This record gives sequence, structure tokens and C-alpha cells, in this order.
Amino acid sequence: MFPKVQNPKKNIYLDYAAATPVDPKVTTAMRPFWSSFFGNPSALYKQGREAKKAVNDSRKLIANIIGARLEEIIFTAGGTESCNLAIFGSARMNTDFKTNKHGSPHIITSAIEHYAVLQSIEAQKGESCKVTVLNVNKDGLINIKDLQKAIRPETILISIMYANNEIGTIEPIAEIGKLLQRINADRLQNELSRIVFHTDACQAAGFLDLNVGRLGVDLMSVNGSKIYGPKQTGFLYVKNGIALRPLIYGGGQERNLRSGTENVPGIVGLAKALALVTEDKKFRNWEIGKLQGYFISKLMNIDGVELIGPDPRVPLGQKQFSDRGEPSGRLPNNISITIKGVEGEALMLYLDSYGIAVSTGSACSTGGSDASHVLLAIGRSEKEAKSSIRFSLGKSTTKADLNYVLKVLPGIIVEMRLKCVR
Ligand SMILES: *Cc1c(COP(=O)(O)O)cnc(C)c1O
Repeated sequence: MFPKVQNPKKNIYLDYAAATPVDPKVTTAMRPFWSSFFGNPSALYKQGREAKKAVNDSRKLIANIIGARLEEIIFTAGGTESCNLAIFGSARMNTDFKTNKHGSPHIITSAIEHYAVLQSIEAQKGESCKVTVLNVNKDGLINIKDLQKAIRPETILISIMYANNEIGTIEPIAEIGKLLQRINADRLQNELSRIVFHTDACQAAGFLDLNVGRLGVDLMSVNGSKIYGPKQTGFLYVKNGIALRPLIYGGGQERNLRSGTENVPGIVGLAKALALVTEDKKFRNWEIGKLQGYFISKLMNIDGVELIGPDPRVPLGQKQFSDRGEPSGRLPNNISITIKGVEGEALMLYLDSYGIAVSTGSACSTGGSDASHVLLAIGRSEKEAKSSIRFSLGKSTTKADLNYVLKVLPGIIVEMRLKCVR
């Protein structure tokens, strides 16, 4: 059914939203902490102090970048754990201590969240919470008025992702943050519990403003593996005054919120990775954004191809990026398309045989035959969703890479339609 290897020499990786290669500068920064500075950060002798200093320096670096205080950074083992800590941690503060006198705690989220958020919130139903899942429009945007209407006296948590991993939609986090600031001020007067605001910034961290003050968030999840850092590294920003229950109990590391000996090389690598992507964010957004616009325009010329999600191409004379160099609307590295009469998973394997790596729907749901929950939520049919692929560009992507895809893709599509591979 699938073609034999066509061009094994090509190695065109277009799945940076799933995983990024570790930057060599990150590897270099991590190297001493495997075997030279290997001490346990909790130990009080020299080797321990050295390791502790590395953890604290990394914490300082990250805190500076996101405009937080040192103690507000909690290191975790990745994006999934950060999201779980944010959600279970907030919910259990209420369910365990019955602090909410207005009935079962209520959580609001969106229909297009990553499963790290959606499944964590789903699990809260079993912990006696109520849940509202907000619909999104055809571009994946939530409606702030819907959000406002969904808030109840017993609402304790709102979790809305910063940027979507499948279609690149950027949600209005700062706007939600401002709204909640007003709402929480009112709630304080009326003796209602404060609504905690969490954003999953795993896809956003390499491209968008991470300043927690400007965003108005209480909790923010970031991971290393999407920003040219090591896998299984991440942090949760926890605003001072926000109380969470830990998920992992033990020696009391990370302000008691995440016990266990710190992953010192991982933490050093995570901080270095965030510093590097922040440093060249403006230039990279611009460069990758140019490639995105070019690629979309060319792809749209192929028969039966349609862009999924917001169109990032701006009319002439309009600005694509803010003064800080940040895009709005759609991440500059994401191109998601649907192709009439072609099955996405088969196409992905075809492209693989040409040495081109792309993804279908969400990499995390690979193995399941279900159509992507994100594409269904933006109103795509099951058929369209299953006929979709996602390209995500990164630091090493060149125009020549994209031109090669543009050269082989039309032929593959024709061949697949003839063979009726669906
Ligand atoms: C990758 C990703 C996660 C999960 O992060 P891990 O580090 O793989 O656990 C969560 N949310 C979003 C939006 C992601 O892209």
C-alpha cells in the first residue's frame, strides 16, 4: 500500500511543534552537570552547593525572562506535568479543604486544549468538580463574552492555552487576564473565591510574549522540548499567593510543590534554551513568518488543498508583528492543511518515504483512529479532519526544504487519489 523509500537521502524535518532538536549551546551548558557537578542540590557540602547554585541561576534566568520572582518558578518534568500540577493543584485546594461554600468547584476551559489540560480537567469530574468546555470559532478562537457568561460564583479555575499546537491559533490571553483582574476584584468584595487563571504556553514560549505581568496569568506551563531544550523538562509559573496542592510528595523540593531530587542538567538546559529562543525571537519570528507566508501561498495553488485555522498572511501595508516582534492570530511556524480525497495518515507515510517528516492531527493522539478533537471543534467534518496534515517550521527550515515539498507533494496527491488510498 505504501511506496518504497523514494529519497532516503533527504531529511526534511517539518514537525517542530512535536519536538525540536536540542540546541548545541544547550547541550554545552548541560554537559558539566552530568558528571562533574553532579551533587544533590539539597546537600550542604561543596558539591551540593554547586548544584544548588546551578538550579538557582537557572531559576533566576527564567524569572527574569518572564518577569517573575525567583520563588514563582517551579521546575517540573515537562509540559504535561506542569499542566497537571496547575489543574489538580488548584482543584484539590478546593475539594480537599472544602473552601468553596458555593457548591462543587467549577472549572472553565476550551475545546481545543492539549490533552495534558483537557484530560486533567476531565479527571476533575471524578473529584467532584463541574466543568464547562468553551466552544471556539472556525479559526479556533474562544469568545471572551462566552467565557464571561460561563463564570459562576463557584468557578475556581480557568485554563486557556496561549497558542494551539495543531492549528497555531493564538488566544487572547492578556485580554482574559485583564477581564479576570476586574472580575476577581469584584469577587473579593462579595466574598467569592478568586478565579485562578492558567495558560498552557508550551507552543507559545518560542514565539510570543511570556511576561506574566502583561499577560495577567496566575499559572503558566512551559516545557523545554518545544524550545530546543531537553525533553522531560519544564516549569510552572505560580504567582505568589496562589495556593496549590502538590502532585508529588516527598523531600519538599521546589517549595514543597514538586518533591524529588532536581534534574540539574535538565534545569540548566531548560533555562539556557529559553534564554536562546528569547534572544533571537524577533528575528526568528520574522524569518519563519516569511517562509510560512510563502509556503501557504504555494500550497493553496495545489488542487483541493485548503488552509485550516487563521490565515496569517496580512494585506500589503498591514503589520504582521507587534513592535516587540510578536505575531497575533497564528504562530509563524504552523501550517495546517486539509486535502480533498487524501487520507492524512497515508500522506504522512508517503512524505516520510521522500524523507519529509510531518504530522497528522496531534502527535499525542497517534495510534488512535479518532479524528483530531481540535479540527472537529473548529467545525471541520470528520472526513476533513482525517484528510489533514500539519507542517511546523523551525530554526533550520529553509526555503529549499519547502520547495522540495512543493515539488513532490502535487504528484503524491495525484497518485494517492488514483490509488484511492483513503
Ligand atoms: C507538547 C505540549 C504539551 C505537553 O508537553 P510535554 O513536555 O510533552 O509533556 C502540553 N501542551 C502543549 C500545547 C504542547 O504542545
